[in-house]
Amino acid sequence: MNGAPLWLQAFVALLAVDLYQYLCRRGQHRFEVWWRLHKLHDAPEELTVLSTSRSHIADTMLRQVFGPGLLVYALGLSANAVIYGSLLPAVLLDALGHANIDFPRKRFRWLSYVFSLPNVHALHHTPTHDRVNFGMSLMIWDRFLGTFQMPDERPCQFGTSDRRFSELGILAQHLDAFHLRPGSSNALPSVERIRSGPPDAGPADATTDSI
Ligand SMILES: [Zn+2]
Repeated sequence: MNGAPLWLQAFVALLAVDLYQYLCRRGQHRFEVWWRLHKLHDAPEELTVLSTSRSHIADTMLRQVFGPGLLVYALGLSANAVIYGSLLPAVLLDALGHANIDFPRKRFRWLSYVFSLPNVHALHHTPTHDRVNFGMSLMIWDRFLGTFQMPDERPCQFGTSDRRFSELGILAQHLDAFHLRPGSSNALPSVERIRSGPPDAGPADATTDSI
């Protein structure tokens, strides 16, 4: 896309990289060998802004560095287009999406149909609804491809069904992806437990701020 206006290149970067992230995340919840690398991100039973950077180092390098790098190179996008169209939105929206806040509510709720905001990404982090809302910055690919779900309330239970994995330290969780821990299990969570109904949502607790 050399020669195209910056705004157009930035828009293409936003859509293309977010589609790539969507497909990767969907694949990580579909294929066991890929789930091993993503499990670490979904394991914590608390969801905060710090969860944003909590990823397996191999997942970070493959999914967030080399993959997008090759994609924008193949598309011929300029560095400025990647920064303004993909990196900045991804950093800001990924951090916001993991924030422990009940947002958006009521009149701003429509924003969650477009962007990956706290309520919709929180649903992805629940043990029962981890196969919805895969988008990193946007929700449009989830909506087009049938994996979007809007929670009625902010979920309050997070993590995977593998409580034993959740209780491990960060180093043990890294090693677990390669079966270096005795008794480790990287089996995908059972599809049967995925429910189509609303998640277990409780009233906003004392640790959740409302906007
Ligand atoms: Zn997340």
